[in-house]
Amino acid sequence: MRAVLLPRYGGPEVLEYVTDRPDPVPGPDEVVVRVRAASVNRLDLILRQGAPRLKLVLPHVLGADAAGEIAAIGSDIADLEEGERIVVNPGISCGRCEACSTGEDSLCSEYKVLGEHLPGTYAELVAVPAKNVVRLPTDFPWESAAAAPLVFMTAWRLLVSRAAIRPGEDVLILGAGSGVSMAAIQIAKLAGCTVFVTSSSEEKLAKAKALGADVLVNYRTTPWSQAVWELTGRRGVDVVLDHVGAVTFKDSVRALRKGGRLVSPGATSGSIVELDMRYLYWRQISVIGSTMASQREFEEAMKLVFMGRLKPVVDRVFPLADARAAHECLERGEQFGKIVLKVA
Ligand code: ZN
Repeated sequence: MRAVLLPRYGGPEVLEYVTDRPDPVPGPDEVVVRVRAASVNRLDLILRQGAPRLKLVLPHVLGADAAGEIAAIGSDIADLEEGERIVVNPGISCGRCEACSTGEDSLCSEYKVLGEHLPGTYAELVAVPAKNVVRLPTDFPWESAAAAPLVFMTAWRLLVSRAAIRPGEDVLILGAGSGVSMAAIQIAKLAGCTVFVTSSSEEKLAKAKALGADVLVNYRTTPWSQAVWELTGRRGVDVVLDHVGAVTFKDSVRALRKGGRLVSPGATSGSIVELDMRYLYWRQISVIGSTMASQREFEEAMKLVFMGRLKPVVDRVFPLADARAAHECLERGEQFGKIVLKVA
């Protein structure tokens, strides 16, 4: 099959397009998906560069997100047919541990992510557990379907389950252009919150506004933490979604109201932060981590995507063979929303 390989860690130039990768064979409880579209996540860039505590088996195939058709079915699977159009939940759980038995599969002791711990979706074919696929509505575009899973499930669990956002709350989302932000703006808006976003680009702020953001803060022209403080009548926001980490954490804490929640699904600028404990206890702040989502949360978010109430924003589409250009594009950070690879 055709695939993009990561033969060694490095810049986008190490990615290698091949046409002779062996086809995967489904295990008894798996299906093989003929990938029509995959999408690029920040995770892929981190893995490509070499993550400190993770040793990939090289050459590795990156890619968490995929939409496509069922190409082969494992012997134990009775409720899926070849040719069905599906989208994949990239979070793979054991189904047996304590967390899995309570429906909290993203807390699974053996949790794995497609394209990180297992061969991913930058390929013509990928094997996944049958329980991880959800049928796509007829005519739902491949590119939009592939752009949705990781970012919408992550933002859904983060805001709905972990931050427990409520109607009328002020939610601040840092960095308007990222895939998780694109999803989070829409989820917070749908939940009845007032959405604040930051960006250094007026163009991205305008696009965030079109998605429903209410208050736009350009951090190139205004110190954003102070601006948010003033814009909320010196109260602070209820929730900050900070996926930036080292560079923004201190200001995120300052932008919170007393009793506010800071939620983090990642730390793109660095993961070691400084926290003044006086803010934590005196202002009664919660710092909440979150990653991926359970199958139930994935299905809840995808249902709203299929209904058109949450819209994946596809910034650019590259052919699979141009995965390097897709990585360079995401690395420059010029995109608003998702970068998609068209596979077949
Ligand atoms: Zn488990």
